[in-house]
Amino acid sequence: LQNFDVQNEPILGYREGSQERNMLKEELARAAAVTEDVPIVIGDEEVRDGEPRFQVMPHNHSKKIAKFYYASEKTIQKAIKVSVAAQERWDRTSLEERVRIWQCAAELMAGRYRQSLNAATMLGQSKTAIQAEIDSAAELIDFFRFNVFFLKENAKYQPISENAKVTRNSLRFRGIDGFIAAISPFNFTAIGGNLAYTPALMGNGVVWKPSDTALLSNWRIFNIMREAGLPPGVVNFVPADGPTFGKTITSSPDLAGINFTGSVPTFNWLWNAVGQNLSKYRNYPRLIGECGGKNYHFVHPSADVQSVVTGTIRSAFEYCGQKCSACSRMYVPKSLFEPIKNGLVTERNKLKIGDPSDFSVFTGAVIDDKAFARISGYIKGAKSNSKNKILAGGKCDDSKGYFVEPTIIQTEDPLDKLMTEEIFGPVLTVYVYEDADVHKTLSMVGESTKFALTGAVFSQDKDFSKVALDVLKTTAGNFYINDKSTGSVVGQQPFGGGRMSGTNDKAGGPNYVMRWTSPQSIKETF
Ligand code: GLU
Repeated sequence: LQNFDVQNEPILGYREGSQERNMLKEELARAAAVTEDVPIVIGDEEVRDGEPRFQVMPHNHSKKIAKFYYASEKTIQKAIKVSVAAQERWDRTSLEERVRIWQCAAELMAGRYRQSLNAATMLGQSKTAIQAEIDSAAELIDFFRFNVFFLKENAKYQPISENAKVTRNSLRFRGIDGFIAAISPFNFTAIGGNLAYTPALMGNGVVWKPSDTALLSNWRIFNIMREAGLPPGVVNFVPADGPTFGKTITSSPDLAGINFTGSVPTFNWLWNAVGQNLSKYRNYPRLIGECGGKNYHFVHPSADVQSVVTGTIRSAFEYCGQKCSACSRMYVPKSLFEPIKNGLVTERNKLKIGDPSDFSVFTGAVIDDKAFARISGYIKGAKSNSKNKILAGGKCDDSKGYFVEPTIIQTEDPLDKLMTEEIFGPVLTVYVYEDADVHKTLSMVGESTKFALTGAVFSQDKDFSKVALDVLKTTAGNFYINDKSTGSVVGQQPFGGGRMSGTNDKAGGPNYVMRWTSPQSIKETF
């Protein structure tokens, strides 16, 4: 393989009058005007099982942007068969050829299809232009480019051959015999691309179940990969009902792995099902999962108030707090509470919520009716608990779209469920501690939840930052000092957490690609 440099894709600004804004507006108008028909695709065959279903715009739920179908058990089984057969050939395809396809796809995503990916993400997942740009443009492209780079770097290692005239040792990175099931979430279009296509890059056949609520953007990725030259059947596009899909893939003897991002109960269910079916499989299936968090911002009395306020508003409320990494609990010392509270409330009150195609909007709607019910339930519960006080926001309205105001709650109870349970919405809960209790409070951070995804400490006192890093070492797979807990960048901050947040295989890092290979050591004697 040629040596090449890899760099993060630059993020476009979408200023008024800019070419990218004009192009995006055209794509938004085009996508909003139709209800796109999205079939199940197995090999090169389109399938439409049962009654059609619809993906709607979360901020305008009477508008349907895609029509799709749930694969039946039989169709999922067929997808498995086709992906296993395709893998046989695909795994023999040279690394150079695979890399060529991935590089071509990255160029298509960065160029011709950038705005159609962004428009699908904005309309279907209710992201603003900038939130779409960092997801379905920059991060998606970065995953494709960096995974190729990491593959190349890892493949550089070849074992020592002590007497090369007599024996030669080599290590080949093969795909895993069987199929990989990719089950991807709604909140990042890029994650869909990574979950389905990184196993494929490594020589695997994939059955991909995209999220119902990210369907159109995920369909765009699938089509770009076909255009870039990925042979039919290597990745099969199989929207399905979750339980039917889960049961069918885990009871197949061909299951080689699951690449998952979603909820803890679903990931636990998959582990249990795999355990129960273990004797059926040819391989121990690889199970990789990322499943949520209860991410914190911990403020030390030495912190810079302005960075705390700006970082927290962005982390808690960008994309309605629906990033797995979003800050949802905050620990503030009494000495800084007044300025931090005033700053948070002032900034929060400036945020405009609405249709994200309006470029002045800060955030759109939450993803669907279930999310709306869950999040508004937490807010309602907070209003009726005397230990909790709403400092800002608190209104919910689903008459046109699933709108929840960015909400800030102060609690007297550091173990209130607002401080311990994942809400996955724009709700920030603040606990105020006595300055003298700073170390005691720090120890409480890790003890109060089972999650360990992201966390941030704001402190100008470097010694305290070191102590915090040590005390909190198992509480966050991505740890930030004086910065917000969201916004990890592929290749710069590989992403993932431990405990109930997942298997911490670090998407966007060098080891992730290696999870999808079953390498073969070959000793040749001459
Ligand atoms: N990597 C993203 C971030 O750091 C979050 C990914 C997720 O929500 O799963 O903000």
